[in-house]
Amino acid sequence: MGWLQRFMYGRRGGDQLSLALMAVGILLTLVSSIVSWFAIKTTAYVVYVILQVISTAVFVLAVWRMFSRNIPARERENQKFLGVWRRFTGWFKRDRKNFVYLNCADCKASLRVPKGKGTMIVTCPKCGREMRIKT
Ligand SMILES: [Zn+2]
Repeated sequence: MGWLQRFMYGRRGGDQLSLALMAVGILLTLVSSIVSWFAIKTTAYVVYVILQVISTAVFVLAVWRMFSRNIPARERENQKFLGVWRRFTGWFKRDRKNFVYLNCADCKASLRVPKGKGTMIVTCPKCGREMRIKT
C-alpha cells in the first residue's frame, strides 16, 4: 500500500474510501484477467466483461470522489466507510487468548472480559444490565 499512499498524499479528496475503491478496482482487474485466461466465447467471457465493467466503474467512482467539490458529502461517506472498516478489522484484532468477547443481552453492545477469572458478574457499561458469565 505504500506507493499508493504516497501517490494519494496531498491530493484533494484522496481519502481512505477512494483508496479502498482503487484497491478493489485493481483486485477486480486482476481477477478479470485471470478469468480471461480460461475461455473466450464461453460464460467465462461474460464474467470477464462484467468484471471489467465493474472495475472501470469503481475506478471512475474513486477518481470522481477525489475531484468532487462536495467535500462534506464525501467526508460523510468516508466516515461511514471507516466505521464499517474499523468494525471489520477490530473483529480480527480481538485478543481471544486473554479475553472473552460477548454481546450484552439487552442492548447488544460488545463487551470484553478478561479470561480465566472464573464465574463473574459483568455490568454492561452502556445499559447497566448485569450478566453472570463464566470466563
Ligand atoms: Zn447493554
